[in-house]
Amino acid sequence: MIPIITYHAVEDVSSPVFVAPAVFQAQMAALADRGWQTVTLTAILDWLRNGTPLPRKSIALTFDDAYESVYAAAWPVMAARGFTGTLFLITDYMGRSNRWPGQMASVPELPLMSWAQARELAVAGWEMGAHTNTHPALPLLPPDEMAQEIVDSQTAVRQQTGQSARIFAQPYGATNPAVEALARRHFDGAASVRMGLADAASDPFALPRVDAYYLHPRLIPHLERPLFRRYLQLRQRLRQVRRLVKSDWVAKPADAH
Ligand SMILES: [Zn+2]
Repeated sequence: MIPIITYHAVEDVSSPVFVAPAVFQAQMAALADRGWQTVTLTAILDWLRNGTPLPRKSIALTFDDAYESVYAAAWPVMAARGFTGTLFLITDYMGRSNRWPGQMASVPELPLMSWAQARELAVAGWEMGAHTNTHPALPLLPPDEMAQEIVDSQTAVRQQTGQSARIFAQPYGATNPAVEALARRHFDGAASVRMGLADAASDPFALPRVDAYYLHPRLIPHLERPLFRRYLQLRQRLRQVRRLVKSDWVAKPADAH
């Protein structure tokens, strides 16, 4: 079982999707103390498809949207421990802020990293993945725009970072058969927002992840135990109940108009 953690910004703002630098440091220290090693999603896909072995305690740290604080606050803490991460870049918003259409007003405005900063991370061994051009809910787009968002963002990551960008993450985790078909045609795999731990039975195009919010440093000693998986299953069920009573990603783009 391999935990794939989802981060967004590493910043002192009150929001459940952002992690404070002090918490991030405690998480990295606990992982290093327990002997965890970071791996890329490409390495996980290679393990899933070809059985290429991974270190016994492998973990992937993924960072959606490429916030500047990942460069400034997360990278130094990780580099000190020999850790690398995976970035999912919104290619039209590099060097700008998280004010893409459909962004919730309650989320504070925060800067995203520049291409130059992303290139530095790429050189340092970070993995670069595509996360569309403008962060739309893909299933709501006409087919040509959907394809553009997916394929053009991959091309931009390639041109700007020199990496092949063979992994994808759907904004909001929003997907449908057309999105999935495009992902399968152009990528080797995709990270989802389904909560859980990756295992040998995971679908390469729907890799489960764990929100950093649930990675309490006190839980890290239990990451390998069945207890942690049961805890995630319980949180997943609670989240499904909340979604039934609250509006979903489908409401967001309409709200923006
Ligand atoms: Zn995102």
